[in-house]
Amino acid sequence: NTPLHELDPEVAAAVDAELHRQQSTLEMIASENFAPVAVMEAQGTVLTNKYAEGYPGRRYYGGCEHVDVTERLAIERIKDLFGAEYANVQPHSGASANQAALFALAQPGDTILGLDLAHGGHLTHGMRLNFSGKQFNVVAYHVDEAGLVDMAEVERLAKENSPKVIIAGWSAYPRHLDFAEFRRIADEVGAYLWVDMAHFAGLVAAGLHPNPVPFADVVTSTTHKTLGGPRGGVILARSKDFAKKLNSAVFPGFQGGPLEHVIAAKAVSFKIAAGEEFKERQQRTLDGARILAERLVQDDAKAVGVDVLSGGTDVHLVLVDLRNSELDGQQAEDRLHEVGITVNRNAIPNDPRPPMVTSGLRIGTPALATRGFQTEDFREVADIIAEALKPGFDADALKARVTALADKHPLYPGLKQS
Ligand code: PLP
Repeated sequence: NTPLHELDPEVAAAVDAELHRQQSTLEMIASENFAPVAVMEAQGTVLTNKYAEGYPGRRYYGGCEHVDVTERLAIERIKDLFGAEYANVQPHSGASANQAALFALAQPGDTILGLDLAHGGHLTHGMRLNFSGKQFNVVAYHVDEAGLVDMAEVERLAKENSPKVIIAGWSAYPRHLDFAEFRRIADEVGAYLWVDMAHFAGLVAAGLHPNPVPFADVVTSTTHKTLGGPRGGVILARSKDFAKKLNSAVFPGFQGGPLEHVIAAKAVSFKIAAGEEFKERQQRTLDGARILAERLVQDDAKAVGVDVLSGGTDVHLVLVDLRNSELDGQQAEDRLHEVGITVNRNAIPNDPRPPMVTSGLRIGTPALATRGFQTEDFREVADIIAEALKPGFDADALKARVTALADKHPLYPGLKQS
């Protein structure tokens, strides 16, 4: 029972350094968040020791009576949160959930219709090197000139290609999707509708974004983005029609033993997501993104070639368009890193620059909202970002402003990781 810092000082030092990095910089990667201490506590328990292949009440191992309790809590809580009749909380990640969902709905060789990766889709929605692109016949839809999903194209491609599955969901898109319209098109061509709400699940849980569950045959999500829980995935469905297929696609289809310590942590995070504080936090997440978008379309930003895709945002992220800027995505990401703000560069639709460089930034507000940022703090962050993207920016002065914000909202105060 030697403590980590004695047993393995190298790992302990890296963990401590990461804690310090998270505390002292501003995390604005749109897919990241800060898990509450209680969630990390649940994940760090003896439940990591337990094998529990199967599902609660139907396990292939003895001694599962306690992990049955935590897994059932996770299932019931997430069903309540999203109004679903079916939930599987075992997928190890969002990609694992998507793999199981796709194989439950379709067979290799079938046609699937998803949003192009370069237009905001995810790898698992049909990217060439991903299982989805290798094993399925992929047809991709796009966003239009205004940066909005082109529903006329979705309908045309659906009619021309009769896909088995239509995928609605994104990793980089700043607006709501029209789930009712996706449903109508899916019904018209006899396709299944799968919604991947990995990014916006927290907003849905808070009632601040349309809920895809009533429209889709299957809904997948991660648990660690806006939802704010441990790293992992889930599968939901409005009815039990696909329950057997989905369960067997997860186990024994793709996974062995579930991560019961993570599932317990998911249960805790779903409890938190049902509360008023969570709603208020999601509202601040949305307010922060809107403030950022409004700041980055002002004249001084436009003058240096900075713009915002689709002109604004309805969600927790802003897509910055740098096509007319001297800075490419890589340089802009590096600039913000230099002043203590972490974001990721992102290809934008019809990006003239190569994928490793890009002409865009994806900037998200969930982690800062979790940290307690209020409207005035987001105004300050937005101003720091706008200044950092200008030529002749003063890195030291901006870094001092970042540090002041980080100090104002301490992250994990008192937490000692090793
Ligand atoms: N689906 C979407 C829409 C995502 O954005 C992501 C993650 O970026 C995933 C699925 C995959 O999640 P994970 O990284 O947990 O496999």
